[in-house]
Amino acid sequence: MSSSTRPPASALHCPTTGSVPARPGFIVPPYLLARLAEADAHGMPRAAEAARRSLLADPALRVERERAAVATPAAPASVWAAATPTVRRTIFDAGNAESLPGRPVRDETDAPADDVAVNEAFEGLGATYALLLEAFGRDSVDGAGLPLLATVHYGRDYDNAFWDGERMVFGDGDGEVFGRFTASLSVIGHELAHGVTQYTAGLVYEGQSGALNESFSDVLGALVEQHQRGQRAEEASWLIGEGLFTEAVQGRALRSMSEPGTAYDDDVLGKDPQPADMAGYVDTRDDNGGVHLNSGIPNRAFALAATELGGFAWERAGRVWYDALVGAPGAPAPVSPRATFAEFAAATVTAAHARFGAESTEASAIDRAWRTVGVRSDDDPR
Ligand SMILES: [Zn+2]
Repeated sequence: MSSSTRPPASALHCPTTGSVPARPGFIVPPYLLARLAEADAHGMPRAAEAARRSLLADPALRVERERAAVATPAAPASVWAAATPTVRRTIFDAGNAESLPGRPVRDETDAPADDVAVNEAFEGLGATYALLLEAFGRDSVDGAGLPLLATVHYGRDYDNAFWDGERMVFGDGDGEVFGRFTASLSVIGHELAHGVTQYTAGLVYEGQSGALNESFSDVLGALVEQHQRGQRAEEASWLIGEGLFTEAVQGRALRSMSEPGTAYDDDVLGKDPQPADMAGYVDTRDDNGGVHLNSGIPNRAFALAATELGGFAWERAGRVWYDALVGAPGAPAPVSPRATFAEFAAATVTAAHARFGAESTEASAIDRAWRTVGVRSDDDPR
């Protein structure tokens, strides 16, 4: 694993500046947009054009986000923190321009809008806030009541959604391959989880720590969806980005946590390239060292542990992953910003011991899951 190598500055989708690795953000990884940019060969000129423009626009956005997000304070007692945790959402409309934040169109005092994207963003922020508070006792992304902001209708045919360090931003999609990005609750939860990671462990968005950053966002995205639906682990789809693809695409979602590598297999998009265990680990300089690829490995460890334990995934496996990320009473905390898969796995096992006991079914299921995906081995203590 080459965590210190940096993607070439010449690559279209990579940040062009210096020493700070790119910050997390985009739900659609660069390799998928690169495939999509060839979609005109498959009779999808609008999707191809949209993907090419997204690839060109993204480096500038990434640089902006780095500036915004480099120094994130530990959650302060903020001026807006209320005695009773309360969600505070504001949705903006960019009107298909690429300037942020756009025009405010809905906040907590307003009735639902006539615009489905506005309402989906509003409800999605609320569902994420509800999971964080009800499952983990966390008051918003920063733990101190941070208002939740989102902009919809960003750009024209824009094929992505991202967290810019301050807000969520959603494109409408090109209409040929991708529909609107507010349609998937797991995407909304995924993006806001990048904010949680930013305020806690600060996992560096590169190599294995970057894949862990991506994976934690998928974990939280899946949990937000399951929590909102009242779904148990064994009933869940474990898909990230279900509902984003149009019917023209041979695929279920962007990623599958339970079966990485099987989310899509399509003429235009190719086959889902995620590995399901360490034997398939991808060494690459692209995609910040494969952050959206190798995240399949810890994703599957989570899905395996949660499914074996059964019940609501946020109560046990989810609680342990959260404890490992933020640090919790009795558990060593938070994992280091450059944590490897093995270090994060060890942190979850320790956190499971602290919360549920060393002999607990939770601790053994989590340990077993990491062994199944090849991150832990016989050399590791149980
Ligand atoms: Zn992400």
